[in-house]
Amino acid sequence: SIAFLNGEFLPLSEARISPLDRGFLFGDGIYEVVPSYQGKLVGMVPHIERMQSGLASIGIKFDWSMDKWQTVIDQLLEQNGKGNLGVYIHVSRGADTKRFHAYPDNVEPTVFLFCYDIPSSPTADASKTKGLKVNTQQDLRWQRCNIKSTSLLGNVMHFQQGYANGYHESLLFNENNELTEASSCNAYIVKDGVVITPPLDNQILPGVTRKILLDILRKDGSITVEERVVNMHEVKNADEVWITSSSKDIAAVIEVDGQPVADGKIGPVWQKAMQLFSEQKFNY
Ligand code: PLP
Repeated sequence: SIAFLNGEFLPLSEARISPLDRGFLFGDGIYEVVPSYQGKLVGMVPHIERMQSGLASIGIKFDWSMDKWQTVIDQLLEQNGKGNLGVYIHVSRGADTKRFHAYPDNVEPTVFLFCYDIPSSPTADASKTKGLKVNTQQDLRWQRCNIKSTSLLGNVMHFQQGYANGYHESLLFNENNELTEASSCNAYIVKDGVVITPPLDNQILPGVTRKILLDILRKDGSITVEERVVNMHEVKNADEVWITSSSKDIAAVIEVDGQPVADGKIGPVWQKAMQLFSEQKFNY
């Protein structure tokens, strides 16, 4: 596959960075994954805006315009055949001449993009969709989960703990037993027809899929949406549980900690939401 590194398109296998790159030494960078189905991107603008705000929040000066991003991403998709692709975008602080914690002056950020295959766009057809099984864990990541940092060790360790035990994902709960998110997705419950998801704060990533989904649901109006604290008891007694991310769309969870969610079948609110989302996501 073809990658983009510091201004150049080249085969991914030939891409090289310095071992002194702070992305490598410190996880000092910001990343995004933008989904593209047959050349059509979903949420490019909000993804790039989130990256720009993440970069600003960690003091990396990288001032590509939205047009510049669009051009590079379009060229990358062109060169990679326009299948179902996750476009990985990474800007790290760059390579210093030494290993020193303070932000260096006059270092050029490293910009790296490549594409990888993602599942084709899921449909609202529950009979063709596999529900996911998840476990629960105490969220032991840092207090700045709103920053989409390339330092993903906390997320990786949570994901691995579930994965090693046969789960597709892990739902994370803070010390008050309140749901935060999953290790690589935002999380939702449905109770009595209402979609409920934790509010945006420092404990969760402001997901682009979350933003698009909530916007679609609110504009449609047939399903009520609430952003509020959700506790463990509510998760265990939910009618439906969902997780969302750019590479998963809206995934229905059918089992939590070995117990079925309601009757263990994918629910009607998911089907309706997925139908609306599939119809409208390319408008974002
Ligand atoms: N939460 C975490 C921790 C993530 O890593 C991700 C995405 O990978 C998400 C939520 C979902 O965000 P988005 O919908 O923007 O992909």
